[in-house]
Amino acid sequence: MRIEIATLFPDMCEAVLSESIIGRARKSGAITVNCHNIRDYTLDKHRRVDDTPYGGGMGMVMQAEPIYRCWQAVCEQMGQRPHTIFLSPQGKVLTQQRAVELSKMPGLFLLCGHYEGVDQRILDKIVDEEISVGDYVLTGGELPALVLTDAIARMCGGVLPAAAAFEDESHFSGLLEYPQYTRPEVWEGEAVPEVLLSGHHLKISQWRRAESLRVTQEKRPDMYESYMQAQDSAEE
Ligand code: SAM
Repeated sequence: MRIEIATLFPDMCEAVLSESIIGRARKSGAITVNCHNIRDYTLDKHRRVDDTPYGGGMGMVMQAEPIYRCWQAVCEQMGQRPHTIFLSPQGKVLTQQRAVELSKMPGLFLLCGHYEGVDQRILDKIVDEEISVGDYVLTGGELPALVLTDAIARMCGGVLPAAAAFEDESHFSGLLEYPQYTRPEVWEGEAVPEVLLSGHHLKISQWRRAESLRVTQEKRPDMYESYMQAQDSAEE
């Protein structure tokens, strides 16, 4: 998997992408993530990349040309046109399901907007899909691009020790994960559920499944409802 992030703030992205699991996966070559500074592609002698909006109004709008030149350079480096995503509060809200689908694509180009937004003409020209991280507005697309990169990267081969590490987790199969415990066995008078100390694999997995259903019903009744409906239709 190769993810190319186009941003006006590459250091902000690099700082996050160099740490922890994603940082190690990049070092080992399990995934490739490159951050491109859109400003490096401007032809303006003052390295300007934005301008005031036509029609008036607040803020600045990112210009089309530097973004287009950046995207073209990446297409050339990759030898193909990557699936191109604009991080936007107007996009479809990111789900685990969409992250799974995107993790199977060979290459992605993530465009981060900033300020008031981006000239519509470049979006019409290069963008395949708009993705939002939620129904609220952030100052830029960098945090959303990092969220998307993290969600995708952890499902790529060689990033986590095994697929079970993410397949068991919340949202993957439509349920939330069961509660987790670690040492000590008793903390502040509270003991770990006995079944987890039994070493009985079948009983442990039955307990985990029951807890998963209970937690989902309690915290996300909407998810629980959809999961049960899907189970019913699969049985019919
Ligand atoms: N004027 C835009 C609007 O009302 O739709 C919002 C611009 S926002 C201040 C600047 C940039 O941050 C956007 O172009 C987008 O790239 C990013 N952004 C803000 N909120 C986001 C969200 N919820 N999901 C994804 N990207 C977001």
